[in-house]
Parts: sequence; C-alpha cells; structure tokens
Amino acid sequence: MLYQWNIVGHTQQLLSLEKEIKGRNFSHAYLFSGPHQGGKSSIAKTLASIIQCPNHYCKKCRDCQLIQTKAHPDTIFMEDNGESIKIDEVREIIRKTNLTSQSPYRVIVIENIERMPVEAQNSFLKTLEEPPGKTIFLLTTSHLDQVLLTIQSRVRHFHFSTVDDGILKAYLKETFGSRPEMDEIVNMAQGRPGLAISMIKDENAFAGQKKLYGQIEAFLKKNDLAQKFLFIEEIEKDKTQVDLFLDAFTRYVRKLLFEHMNSSSPLLGKRFTLRDIVNLFESLGKTRYFINRNVNKKLALENLMIQTER
Ligand SMILES: [Zn+2]
Repeated sequence: MLYQWNIVGHTQQLLSLEKEIKGRNFSHAYLFSGPHQGGKSSIAKTLASIIQCPNHYCKKCRDCQLIQTKAHPDTIFMEDNGESIKIDEVREIIRKTNLTSQSPYRVIVIENIERMPVEAQNSFLKTLEEPPGKTIFLLTTSHLDQVLLTIQSRVRHFHFSTVDDGILKAYLKETFGSRPEMDEIVNMAQGRPGLAISMIKDENAFAGQKKLYGQIEAFLKKNDLAQKFLFIEEIEKDKTQVDLFLDAFTRYVRKLLFEHMNSSSPLLGKRFTLRDIVNLFESLGKTRYFINRNVNKKLALENLMIQTER
C-alpha cells in the first residue's frame, strides 16, 4: 500500500481509495460507512493526515502530530458525543470553513453523520452542493440508511464492512501477543477491530460484552418475559447497544444452527427445534428491517423477545 493506514482488514477498499487519491486528486467529500468500531474513524483520521502532511502522513511532522492529538488548526473533528447534531452546529462548521486557513486544505471530519436530523442534513446538503474552496469533508456513518440519498450522491462513498475473524485474530496476536481469552474476544468482537482492541485494553469492555452474550444465552434458556422486556427498555434508546445486541444475537443463533446440524445433542436442543431456530433467524432479520425504517423500535425488539419464549 502507498500509505500507512495502520488498520486491520479493509485492504480492497483502501487500495481503491488510494488509487483515487494517488495524484492528490481529492474529492470535496468522502463518506465512510460500516459497523460501529469497524475502523471508519481511524481511516478518516489517517486520510486527514495524508491530505494535510507535506509528506502524505509521515507521522513525524507538525501537521501529523497535531492531527494525531486532534489539535490541528485546519482539521476540525466533530466526534460522536452521543448527541444529535443541530443545524446551528452545521452552520458553525460552514462558517469555520469560510475562514482563511494556513494549510493548503481545510479538513472537516464529522463522525456518524446520521446524528444530523433530516433538516440539518438538508442544510448541510447545500454546503456539499457548493463546497467552499479548499474544504474537504470526511464523513462517517454506522447507519447508512439514515443518511439522505441526496447526501450519498454528492460524496465519494466507501463501505467498510466487518473484518474476517481469521484476519482479526492474526492481527491481535501480532499486536498484543497470545492470550488465553483471545478466541472469546475475537468471537465477541463480531468483526469490529475497535471493539476487539477495547476488550483487550479495558477489562470493563470485556466484562460488558461477556455479560451481553451471557444475557442472550439466558434469554434463550428460560422463559422470563418481564426480565427480557426490562432489558429491552434499558438498551432501546442507545442505537449502538441495539446494534451490538442484534449482532451478538445473530452470532449466537448462527452457533445454535451449526450445532443443530452437526451435533447429536445440540445445545438448547430440547428447547428449540431446527425450525424454531430458522424462525428466530428470520425474526432477527425482520427486527433489523423494522428498526432501520424507524418503526417503533421497542415494539420490534419486544416481538423478537416473545419468539424466545416456549
Ligand atoms: Zn507528516
């Protein structure tokens, strides 16, 4: 590769991105989509350095160091703080893009652009239609379906899906050394390098993810609708939690399916027939479909939970 992306997986997409920017032929806006903690924000940050650094990301110069600490005067980061982005904030970014800058470019990184409500996205669209000179927007999203198609059509879009378990495991072993819980971490990371690294570095993240898997197993093992509904109430307002839950649930059901087909005494075999498991799989797909289309999220998740009762 031409640049040091320091990223696990995503080789094909990065190669095609490199091909596009090789002659420093930058587009005025890029959109990186993919699952939460899959590497999009790191890629955006590296691209910001490639754009601003005279040596295209040397990691040593003042530009590279300032971008690393997110203190570069002409590289603005709007990180996901869990809040939605208001029109005024969008206007403020636009105002900043109109100020004169020292660097050849002004780079504005907006994490999870879906945090902009529709009106804010429409307001932002005007900026994308008439981009202020020298400004490059680097946008990310974990929920592409919530980004206006008119925005999608005005940016260079790259999708970074989950990373293969084998590639992720090899990377983690090389970077952090072997550890007894490595297989468990890779399994629970669901192809998201950021999540895997946070589980390695932070005991609480590891414990949290383990608890989530434990809960899913408990939900499938016994009837307790009140408990299940309580859990839904706890997570339903947090999009990231809902995503992680549905991904973990899907992984678990896939494991059940595999055991059913390959073992004479499959796990939870008495409680779920093969048909039940296939039904659960379908329900998971439907739940995602409804949630992505803003149908009552709580109701959709509660319906899924009803499917786990016997
Ligand atoms: Zn540099």
